[in-house]
Amino acid sequence: MTNRRVPRASSAHSPAAVVLGGGLTGMLAAAVLADHAEVQIVERDLLATAPPPAPRSPLPAPRKGLLQAQHAHLLWSGGARTVESLLPGITQRWLAAGARRIPLPTGLVSLTAAGWLRRWPEMQYLIACSPDLLDWGVRRQVLAHPRIRVLSGTEPVGLSGSADHVTGAEVRDTATRDVRQLDADLVIDATGRGSAAAAWWDALGLPPVPEEHV
Ligand SMILES: Cc1cc2nc3c(=O)[nH]c(=O)nc-3n(C[C@H](O)[C@H](O)[C@H](O)COP(=O)(O)OP(=O)(O)OC[C@H]3O[C@@H](n4cnc5c(N)ncnc54)[C@H](O)[C@@H]3O)c2cc1C
Repeated sequence: MTNRRVPRASSAHSPAAVVLGGGLTGMLAAAVLADHAEVQIVERDLLATAPPPAPRSPLPAPRKGLLQAQHAHLLWSGGARTVESLLPGITQRWLAAGARRIPLPTGLVSLTAAGWLRRWPEMQYLIACSPDLLDWGVRRQVLAHPRIRVLSGTEPVGLSGSADHVTGAEVRDTATRDVRQLDADLVIDATGRGSAAAAWWDALGLPPVPEEHV
């Protein structure tokens, strides 16, 4: 959702971006955008915004918006490398906080219709931990960036602007129900599968968004 008049980096105006949703996608989008803009992340859950706790300190409590938060989750090496390229040191931080690095196919025992799979020396790996731990590690590192701030306990109610010029988002405090406007040159929707973007788009008078279901 772009503002067609996005100013150049050299402009006196400091570009602003709003990211809706503070899960993995939203946090990583914010990390990328922070090189170009001041970023505000709008997240419905109450997120800890205190300074990062010391390594091995208790993790924040599970949060509602994170699916399967306390179950085992597997992040494959391709994904881990991508996150590492955006947030250097993140893999070590996950491991220090209790995640496991499993070499593949060395550390994987698989029984197929043709029998047990052989175990080769490492070709890839996966990071095994709870989504809570993945989310917490990423959030900790992203929110330490001086150009990124999070509005937790806040949810979007719609986009502002017109069909050819999005100027920001309207957001509501989930406790007080107060609505306010966040001006932005770029709005990214990372609210996941419950996204209301199609309805916001419709409210701006735009044709339906092409959707792909997997
Ligand atoms: C059962 C299950 C098992 C899975 N296992 C794996 C696995 O092992 N490995 C793997 O890589 N992937 C796995 N996935 C997929 C992975 O969980 C998703 O790809 C990932 O969570 C997507 O991240 P996201 O940030 O796009 O969305 P989400 O994780 O859905 O994050 C959306 C964020 O937006 C916030 N939000 C939502 N609505 C609003 C709103 N209206 N206003 C403000 N904030 C809002 C939420 O609180 C949340 O923080 C699994 C998924 C499921 C369901």
